[in-house]
Amino acid sequence: METEVIQIAEHNIDEASQKSLFRAGKVIRDGGLVAFPTETVYGLGGDALNPESSRKIYAAKGRPSDNPLIVHVADMEHLETIVKEVPESARKLAKAFWPGPLTMIMNKNDKVPYETTGGLDTVAIRMPNNQIALELIRQSGGFIAAPSANTSGRPSPTVARYCVEDLSGKIEMIIDGGQVGIGLESTIVDLTSDVPMILRPGYITLEMLKEVLGQVDVDRTIIDGNSGQRPKAPGMKYRHYAPKGQLTIIQGEQSKVVEYINLHAKEASESGKKVGVIGTDSTKSLYHADVIKSVGDRKDEKTIAHELFKVLREFDDENIDIMFSESFDDSGFGQAIMNRLLKAAGHNVIII
Ligand code: AMP
Ligand code: MG
Repeated sequence: METEVIQIAEHNIDEASQKSLFRAGKVIRDGGLVAFPTETVYGLGGDALNPESSRKIYAAKGRPSDNPLIVHVADMEHLETIVKEVPESARKLAKAFWPGPLTMIMNKNDKVPYETTGGLDTVAIRMPNNQIALELIRQSGGFIAAPSANTSGRPSPTVARYCVEDLSGKIEMIIDGGQVGIGLESTIVDLTSDVPMILRPGYITLEMLKEVLGQVDVDRTIIDGNSGQRPKAPGMKYRHYAPKGQLTIIQGEQSKVVEYINLHAKEASESGKKVGVIGTDSTKSLYHADVIKSVGDRKDEKTIAHELFKVLREFDDENIDIMFSESFDDSGFGQAIMNRLLKAAGHNVIII
């Protein structure tokens, strides 16, 4: 299959872009797949109410079919039509955070096929805060099932070229809307339990949710990789976000971290490996390795989230065998950053 790549500027959707979005919407209405930008990461979209479309999404990504998809909507009325009821908590959260990087889990009704929910009676729903995404959803009938637009297991794409790398030849169309704003996937909160529970951390933090709902829990498996429990979001049990080389996170006092990384980078280099280091703006110049990249400003977590997946992909582009990364504060939005980094590293952490 030939994959068409089209460019659209989110804040300048002119008549030509509108026509392209109409065409993209038709691809989805006809059962095809389109990768598109959201404010979190690029999504791989198909008609959420068409079981065949969901099957195609799993096939294109190589994703296990028990890992449910998030349904994207563009307005509240549409949400009402696919769930048994909209809980009061969902209305409050939608008012506070939609459109935005928050996915809510509710009880589905019969309109949503089990192919989309990985066999579950619940459905994950989100309204993305990106004009291209919202217009595409409207043009394609109102319900787009979209996981991240990467091959299963790899870091999620934050620029279109990584959608092209993973999905070219497998889907009908890719919409290039430039680098996304946030860079990490949405926060997922389950509203079907007595106390709402965060199943995946993201830009909308525990503190932000508590401000709206009062009591909110966090799935323990997010924080503790060795809890031995099954994550409540089926997708969180899989190896994810992984670069091709081996990544180790080094945690400790900054000068010791730099010393450790430089020593081990040298050793690995001498044994013929290509070595990469993930540092920050203030530490980048202190490292010696084949490739050194900054993920941003340690004091501004948004910069780190924005760059993390891109940097992991760039190490793949440069065929890096061994990577070392600094560790980051895991409170607030940092919890999402560390959750992704730990998964990318297969929980390979050295504390010094
Ligand atoms: P992705 O589409 O790559 O952002 O992954 C979607 C995530 O949402 C996966 O971790 C899924 O397991 C999770 N998810 C989707 N639907 C549900 C659901 N009904 N219940 C629990 N987790 C879900
Ligand atoms: Mg994903």
